[in-house]
Amino acid sequence: MTVDSDLVGGRLTIDLGALVNNWRLLASHAGAAECAAVVKANAYGCGIEPVVTALSNAGCETFFVALPQEGIRVRQTLSAARCFVLNGLFASAVPVYLGEGLTPILGSLPEIQTWVTAAIAEGKPLPCALHMDSGMTRLGLTLDELEAVVGDHEIIDNLDVKLLMTHYACADDIGHAQTERQRDLFLKGATLLPGVPRSAANSAAILQQSDHGFELIRPGVAIYGGEALNHTANPMQQVVKLEGRIVQIRTAKAGDAVGYGGAEVLKRDSRIAYISVGYADGYHRGASHKGVAMRQVAPPAQAAFNGTIINGVGRISMDLCAFDVTDILEAEIAAGDWIELFGDVIHVDDVAKASGTIGYELLTGLGNRYSRIYVGADG
Ligand SMILES: *Cc1c(COP(=O)(O)O)cnc(C)c1O
Repeated sequence: MTVDSDLVGGRLTIDLGALVNNWRLLASHAGAAECAAVVKANAYGCGIEPVVTALSNAGCETFFVALPQEGIRVRQTLSAARCFVLNGLFASAVPVYLGEGLTPILGSLPEIQTWVTAAIAEGKPLPCALHMDSGMTRLGLTLDELEAVVGDHEIIDNLDVKLLMTHYACADDIGHAQTERQRDLFLKGATLLPGVPRSAANSAAILQQSDHGFELIRPGVAIYGGEALNHTANPMQQVVKLEGRIVQIRTAKAGDAVGYGGAEVLKRDSRIAYISVGYADGYHRGASHKGVAMRQVAPPAQAAFNGTIINGVGRISMDLCAFDVTDILEAEIAAGDWIELFGDVIHVDDVAKASGTIGYELLTGLGNRYSRIYVGADG
């Protein structure tokens, strides 16, 4: 650990206990529905393998990924996992799906044809999910297409449909009319496949606590502590803590210009801590204190040192960012100390807002230069 810390500029502490608590809280909203887990994008930056192991120990049996390469990691971690792959199906990947036991989510007629061809070759209906587009205009079958598929025996008899799913476009906005419209259309589609489990709810739809659970819910970001609903207190525990190490603390005078573009001119004599984390690590340049156009709409990122909130100075560079530590006693802070860039004090979504984006993007964009520490994995 000590050696590791000396080789990196930032460290991530991922609290698997908090992760499991979050998953259980979401599951408690599900009623009789099964609570799955979305672990795409390396489990929102948290690491597929430890996350799948921890959630499986808590009772999670079904996982969703975007890509077959992610699905392979899920199945290698947990051979009993049911793993649905969201992002389509290419014919050349069929042997991988069959060999690795991955279940494709079919969202277009060509994808369905590809899976039917595989089923005929295998001599048996093959497991899959069907994805219905109920109004997001992204992936999925229209209601008419779903009707045509269900009515065509040469197709439907070769499919072992394990799940019918749809995805909401506006669930983060509580009570948005589009969510109800999508729900109604999805239910219309579901009547075509009686007895097939239905799934619509992402984190936001689950936390709205209205009636979107059906037979299976698919939370992602809320498991990882991210904010799913707009304009609502986030009920989830923080899972990810990002700390950056102070390389040096330097003094500068009022009137000195700090960083690229000389964009920030100091108003007072200052002590500035330089941290070995920058935009190459996914710490967005848009969260800079000065010199980025976005600053006109969003507050700059803050951080915390021993619980004290400190402000960013100047522009975030590729490998460095700077914080004003003038108000922290000199004896209390030194090079080698760690500053919390986000965690329990400053939430990941606070930094996301300062960056003009959402917590999802910060989590999934966490760089690969960090050391990773997993805590709270008690099974
Ligand atoms: C990513 C994703 C989810 C999870 O969404 P969150 O907002 O992270 O809970 C669920 N379903 C689909 C289809 C997705 O792409």
